[in-house]
Amino acid sequence: MAVLIITFFVIGLSFGSFLNCLVYRLANKKTILGRSYCPHCKHQLSWQENIPVFSFIFLKGRCRHCHKKISWQYPIGELIMGILFILPLREFLSPGVFLFSPFFILNVLTEWTLYFGLIFIFIFDLKYMLVSDKVVIPVIVLIFVLKLITFSLNHQEFLPQFFHLSLAILLGVLFFALQYLITRGKGIGLGDLRIGALAGVIFGQWQMLCLAIILSYLIGSLVCLGLIAVKQKKFKSYVPLGPFLVVGIFITYFFGEMIINWYF
Ligand SMILES: [Zn+2]
Repeated sequence: MAVLIITFFVIGLSFGSFLNCLVYRLANKKTILGRSYCPHCKHQLSWQENIPVFSFIFLKGRCRHCHKKISWQYPIGELIMGILFILPLREFLSPGVFLFSPFFILNVLTEWTLYFGLIFIFIFDLKYMLVSDKVVIPVIVLIFVLKLITFSLNHQEFLPQFFHLSLAILLGVLFFALQYLITRGKGIGLGDLRIGALAGVIFGQWQMLCLAIILSYLIGSLVCLGLIAVKQKKFKSYVPLGPFLVVGIFITYFFGEMIINWYF
């Protein structure tokens, strides 16, 4: 078990490193291929300088070449991904789960994909106020396909599950599309439609989808009121919705059933 936890953690760290690199390169319209380098002086990183989290500690948060500060986004993003990637192992807390069973493997892949997508949206939207199609759409498609394979493993329920999943995606998109039309594109971006689709494919049922949206708006309003109160933001300034949606989706993903059972 310890070996599994460490392996999953290391895979998570590596994907976290890849994610940070992807954020930088997509935002700056650089090619995704090629070795990692310092964004300030373009000095290519050796493998010792490119180990997730450890290099940051070892280099004391500065580039070895130009001594410019390395953003905290790097180690924190990597660490969060490392921790999230361990979470599918919680399945083993309930009896009757076998490692290497197709269900388990599909579940791990689905969860990893959605963690990657959500953390990417969180960082990217917070930093650049954009939702990048190049990551979000492949993530949606991949989760959709993984779920269809999972459904097809228990044949009898394939059609109703397929129906619910498609309906949830449609509802997720429609919710934001309506807002987009009503506000005429002010306050909501087309990128949020994709997050709606992502929430739909993650939950596959409208109850959880609604809960995620309600929580996002609740948290978003509270944070905005807080920011206005401490005068960090003016009343009309723009706050990206994506990070709040991600937080709402995460809370619903882990505690949604608990919240719904408790409330109803
Ligand atoms: Zn440098």
